[in-house]
Amino acid sequence: MPTFDLKSLPPFTNEPFTDFSSPEQHRAMMDALAQVRSELGKPYDLLVGGHRTQSAKLFDSTNPARPSEVIGKHFEATVSQASQAVEAATQAFAAWKHTAAAERASLLLRAAQLVRERHFIFCAWLTFEVGKNWAEADADVGECIDFLEFYAREALRLDASKTPIQLPGERNLLRHVPLGVGAVIPPWNFPLAIMAGMTAAAVVCGNTVVLKPSPDAPTIAAKFVELLEEAGLPLGVVNLLHGGPEVGRTIVEHPKVHFIAFTGSKKVGLEIHERAARTQPDQQFIKRTILEMGGKDAIIVEEDADIHAAADGVVAAAFGFNGQKCSACSRAIVSDSIYELFCEQVRERVAKLTSGEPADNRATGPVINKVAYQRVLDYIEVGKSEGQLIAGGKPIENEDGGYYIEATVFADVAPQARVAQEEIFGPVLAVIRSSSFDNALDIANGTEYGLTGAIYSTSREKLNRARDEFHVGNLYLNRKCTGAMVGAHPFGGFNMSGTDSKAGGPDYLTLFTQAKSVAEKIGVVSEHDEREEEQMGGF
Ligand code: NAD
Repeated sequence: MPTFDLKSLPPFTNEPFTDFSSPEQHRAMMDALAQVRSELGKPYDLLVGGHRTQSAKLFDSTNPARPSEVIGKHFEATVSQASQAVEAATQAFAAWKHTAAAERASLLLRAAQLVRERHFIFCAWLTFEVGKNWAEADADVGECIDFLEFYAREALRLDASKTPIQLPGERNLLRHVPLGVGAVIPPWNFPLAIMAGMTAAAVVCGNTVVLKPSPDAPTIAAKFVELLEEAGLPLGVVNLLHGGPEVGRTIVEHPKVHFIAFTGSKKVGLEIHERAARTQPDQQFIKRTILEMGGKDAIIVEEDADIHAAADGVVAAAFGFNGQKCSACSRAIVSDSIYELFCEQVRERVAKLTSGEPADNRATGPVINKVAYQRVLDYIEVGKSEGQLIAGGKPIENEDGGYYIEATVFADVAPQARVAQEEIFGPVLAVIRSSSFDNALDIANGTEYGLTGAIYSTSREKLNRARDEFHVGNLYLNRKCTGAMVGAHPFGGFNMSGTDSKAGGPDYLTLFTQAKSVAEKIGVVSEHDEREEEQMGGF
């Protein structure tokens, strides 16, 4: 059993970004792409109770840049396999909840080291399976390592936390004990970082997990679970199921699933919230939901801003990974007096964006699948009747059949227009005119979401007001609204953007635990037995 504690670990630091302009790093990425390319199209099993298993139905995960290329073949779990996975997780919980915090944390630290050793290989899988360019893939892998390292330390910190008040004659203790079996349901767009982060947070707290990744990114999850096994994952602590809504609903409603950690769309998040609230026969607890959902994120640009910096920030946040980030800027709210100039600056920058195969590391690439492609094109048609098209607006024809769409900008969009209210989740930006700072804040806050936001201004007064009045979970002043870093920018949104769980923050792990208060009268039993504490299953 590991003997380290928090003090013996170096302090948390974020994983550095890779400099792909260095010939060595460039070569490493090219080699990884070649290696992963040689491994495409293989089948992967489900994992239930530590045993590899299959079903009668296989589905393909494909490359969005060339949909005929199969990345991995995966078995779609049946409803009965979903129930078996919950049973296996329930059995594993009996032992895992008693393991010491240091042992659980060390699993995450070993996993972090293995991901670090395979950094470029994971980047290459992300490039092929979801179409990330090199920098976006690098950020996803770095964030995965950060979550593992951060939550390992947070678990030890929680374990060492002291109850602040000791009553005379009593020994007072507040321990954080695990909840039980959790369903972890991640989205496809940060298929390594978010999938691994929610799983690691659950497991390091002593819970066991049924993980159901997105059908658009099953191979990355399968690779990560293989790595967890290598790191020493005990049987049944993480069970892997693939499939769509049916499998998802089965685990959400299962009476033995105690909590659901979900990141994805508003629609599915609200459905999970509702289903989890309905008590099932034999259910013995109230299910907890941790739901992180979509956004309609805005950047306010005031007339006193550095307009070049603002245009850089808006274009990067709107079109990085083709607008497929929950934090992506989909609305720029710009002061009337600089509006035309700002639109011109944005148009110039968008014209310079190169588009093409993610493996060739272009600025923009394809959207994830055919459904997303059609949805984004439909919104572009809506936008044409709601604003003035000033950039893009068309699909990009290509011989591979990849789902490419031009970076698209609509100007003169009204705040209540559909393209200014609904999450498009693609490369579409609406530029909205504001008549005053009050008006800009009203527009920014005038959607059902509240995930990220930013303001560019040189006025201290405006920045202070934004700090108080811009109602989002993650606010950025004079920088873009994407690129949250674990530890520095705990992440989660307000309103219909979710339950604001603040992933990568100091309170996140408490969501995966319940606090047990123990008061012992001093003097009745002479010697306190520390081993007894270990057996109670807390941190
Ligand atoms: P999605 O809601 O379609 O799917 C998310 C997950 O839920 C997938 O694993 C999917 O298979 C599963 N699922 C689908 N229907 C289900 C059901 N009825 N019951 C249970 N599970 C079900 O989202 P997506 O397309 O994978 O991801 C994009 C969305 O995620 C966007 O809305 C984006 O804003 C959001 N997102 C939010 C955050 C955040 O931190 N707030 C981060 C990343 C992505």
